[in-house]
Amino acid sequence: GEDVHDTLRRADVAMYSAKEHHSSYKLYETALDRYSLRRFTVLNDFRKALETEQFVIHYQPVVAIKGEQVRGAEALVRWEHPELGMVPPNDFIPIAEQSGLIGPLTHYVLERAVAECKRWRREGRPLSVSVNLSVRDLLDLDLPGEVASILTAHHLAPEALNLEITESMIMSDPDRALDTVTRLRDLGVGISVDDFGTGYSSLANLKRLPITELKIDRSFISSLPHDESDEIIVGSTINLGHDLQLNVVAEGVEDEITLKRLEKLGCDLAQGYYFGRPLPSQEFVVMVDRLSAQPARAEAS
Ligand code: C2E
Ligand code: MG
Ligand code: MG
Repeated sequence: GEDVHDTLRRADVAMYSAKEHHSSYKLYETALDRYSLRRFTVLNDFRKALETEQFVIHYQPVVAIKGEQVRGAEALVRWEHPELGMVPPNDFIPIAEQSGLIGPLTHYVLERAVAECKRWRREGRPLSVSVNLSVRDLLDLDLPGEVASILTAHHLAPEALNLEITESMIMSDPDRALDTVTRLRDLGVGISVDDFGTGYSSLANLKRLPITELKIDRSFISSLPHDESDEIIVGSTINLGHDLQLNVVAEGVEDEITLKRLEKLGCDLAQGYYFGRPLPSQEFVVMVDRLSAQPARAEAS
């Protein structure tokens, strides 16, 4: 480097690269810089971004398969970074988790999503909203209290809010997860298990938790039209969910053939590009109104 600052920064870039490749050392080279600089910038800018509202939330419709009515939306966060442009959540959520900054972000998303959901309902759209939690949130003993006060502040019925957790979050500390999830459920909010089928949760653990919904991971859904074994897996997951009195949602529904298969298998709800991509709230409601005005494709054909 030309100066101390630059030298340290390059050392940092080399260190990240070494860690990433599980090697004990790495020599700096400019090719390494692009990704690492992004990572470095992301971490540095994160706190500022929360204060200046650079995080935006997009909403993707969740649709009842029978009748094709929009029932709710999943809130998905994006970062409008002044230099990097739109940063997707998979690029910054892990960094936020590692650096202990996820709590304030979750709080922000919850607050915004609850406020928007209240607005939709006030305007005559009886929708619910789902918010993703991260593993740290589930270990946070204050979370149920925070959720309760956000709901009260916005006068939103708890049934209108769903919190999404993953199997790996449950498995990282099953007892703590049980405690937090039970307290959240006692508030009256719904609890979904997201990306279901990709983790290693045992049925015993799942049965213990007061969950209300399973979201079958996209990886099983996308191959549904041409993979017989995935059809068997999806079918038995739907049955398992129903036996446990849970709603079952299919993620990543991209075409009509897939939707028809899911309908035949008895799946309750679907989410995916076929119905709509995640959009800012104002555009989301336009999409919802358009979908509601359309006679259900299933009945029309
Ligand atoms: P997820 O919760 O499983 O969200 C679904 C992801 O699948 C979203 O990606 C969505 O845009 C994408 N998707 C939806 N329909 C389709 C489809 O038909 N085809 C394909 N190929 N993809 C589809 P996104 O928005 O990039 O979010 C990625 C992940 O980031 C989410 O996965 C979630 O785990 C995490 N995430 C998003 N927002 C938040 C948040 O506010 N807090 C936390 N902790 N995590 C979040
Ligand atoms: Mg989710
Ligand atoms: Mg998912």
